[in-house]
Amino acid sequence: MTDVVTTSTSAGAGGATSLGTGVRIDSLTKTFRAGRRTVRALEDATLWTDKGSFLSLLGPSGCGKSTILRILAGLEEPTSGTALVEGRTPLQLRRGHELGIAFQDSALLPWRSVLSNIRLPFEVSGRTPDHALVAEMIRLVGLEGFEKAKPAQLSGGMRQRVSIARALVVKPSVLLLDEPFGALDDMTRQRLNVELLRIWTEKPATTLMVTHGISEAIFLSDRVAVMSARPGRVQEVIDVDLPRPRTPDLMRTPEFHALHDRASELLFDGASAAREE
Ligand code: ADP
Ligand code: MG
Repeated sequence: MTDVVTTSTSAGAGGATSLGTGVRIDSLTKTFRAGRRTVRALEDATLWTDKGSFLSLLGPSGCGKSTILRILAGLEEPTSGTALVEGRTPLQLRRGHELGIAFQDSALLPWRSVLSNIRLPFEVSGRTPDHALVAEMIRLVGLEGFEKAKPAQLSGGMRQRVSIARALVVKPSVLLLDEPFGALDDMTRQRLNVELLRIWTEKPATTLMVTHGISEAIFLSDRVAVMSARPGRVQEVIDVDLPRPRTPDLMRTPEFHALHDRASELLFDGASAAREE
């Protein structure tokens, strides 16, 4: 068994029963069938976090990161194992409209403008749109002046920013982000990292973010889970015990570099172990 959870916080034994539990996945396995072929995407993946904490998932391509998020979002059923978010099943969570999701393929409605895509979660949950908040989100992701544009008129990065704004606009209690900044240039990415941190600090949602960016993961997170290659397991969870509030200066400190080295090492080991199999 390689599922090691190295944490000194209450996310350990107490997490099993406490109401404060954030994300909790236990021995999650997922096998996809594509015709005669089967793909074992996840094998015995176990992970839990505290309510209101920010966890990033790092791991080689194809190790099942998006699958974990899709299971938590109720878009995919696990083959075995359980997934709970704040003590609720993914389905219950979706019904409660407390979930903010921004996935890689930004899934905007093509016939709707930027503004009405961002307003969509209010309509879906039958709430009155908070126009001030919608405007603030548009400003935040730098899309002022594009409110009436349709997704087809935007660049990939801009579409991604619309989907981030849409995920955040309901101030969700649970936030699932799948490589939300993957398609963006470094400058925009860093700016949005800082903004996301600011929003999250204001109202800490239980957040799970998949990313390939080690710096981004450490900068934003309370903990960083590193997965091994397919079939994916959680190899180790790194506690990011850096003080908050955080500013980009933090990335130049020795403590930050030490965490970065540890995550890189684990990622490299996980990927090369898979090649040797
Ligand atoms: P990651 O996000 O870590 O790159 P994914 O979770 O997307 O990985 O996928 C894990 C593995 O499962 C990959 O090999 C992928 O091809 C496979 N997979 C994911 N979704 C499906 C599906 N719907 N049908 C068949 N195979 C899938
Ligand atoms: Mg993915």
